Amino acid sequence: MLKKIFISIMSVGIVLTAAGCTVAKDTKSNNGKINVVASINSVRDFAQKVGGDKVNVTLLVPEGTEPHDFDPKPKDLEKLANADLFVYSGAGMEDWVDSVKSAVGSSEKLTILDASKNVDLIKSDGKTDPHIWLSLKEAKNQSKSILDELIKLDSKDKSYFEQNYNNFAKELDDLYNSNKSRFASLANKDFVTGHEAFGYLCRDFGLTQKSVEDMFAEGEPTPKKQATLVKFCRDNNIKTIFMETLASPKVSETLANEVNAKVEKIYTLESKEDGLDYVQAMKKNLDKIYDSLKK
Ligand SMILES: [Zn+2]
Repeated sequence: MLKKIFISIMSVGIVLTAAGCTVAKDTKSNNGKINVVASINSVRDFAQKVGGDKVNVTLLVPEGTEPHDFDPKPKDLEKLANADLFVYSGAGMEDWVDSVKSAVGSSEKLTILDASKNVDLIKSDGKTDPHIWLSLKEAKNQSKSILDELIKLDSKDKSYFEQNYNNFAKELDDLYNSNKSRFASLANKDFVTGHEAFGYLCRDFGLTQKSVEDMFAEGEPTPKKQATLVKFCRDNNIKTIFMETLASPKVSETLANEVNAKVEKIYTLESKEDGLDYVQAMKKNLDKIYDSLKK
């Protein structure tokens, strides 16, 4: 696996070098818009919200691909040769990003933003939880880092970007505030999901997650873990098992059958689903989690 990635990156390096000799790249080369490449769906949405019609945002990890398993190909990375800004979510979400960075190192006009740089990260057992954007608070934080970067690239549109950011930040604050008090009023705080993606959402609202798969969506549960989950669901009277499209939906269904719970879809926002944007998907998540916890 490592060898394969190394070879892919090497060939991208060659492609980029060749492109550098023949293609003159201007900032805002795309109809006067800033070309932004975003690693995954969440930061793509944030860049679009803040950048509005002054940016052209494309996605690096293709829709429907589990980003933890993404293996960048030269074709994917050629996009970066013509980009002004590459935004990635950070904190280990894109474990391939260092290789990508060294491959594009010679591309002088590309600004690279680690959108986790001002985030209050969750660390446990020596691992950092990369699912930052599932906190409304940290989504705002990541969007602010994108705002700062866009202003650096295009200072004449500063007030436009700031207005967009302020509007988006208010949407995030409103959703946070309307959920804070209702979650605080619940006695039951535990929910069961597909993979361990909701640590930041839990921190926002004082909840606890149990998951079928681990933080990096690796490995279907062992019979022992499955048994532990079944016991947990029975002991805690869990009536809903959340299912994610990209993380072993079958396993969630099996568990739900075993404990006589219903299956509900939840969005990790690692990929765009059902045509929903960030705020729409988060609102659905929070409503469904709340409904599953109120007795
Ligand atoms: Zn994940």
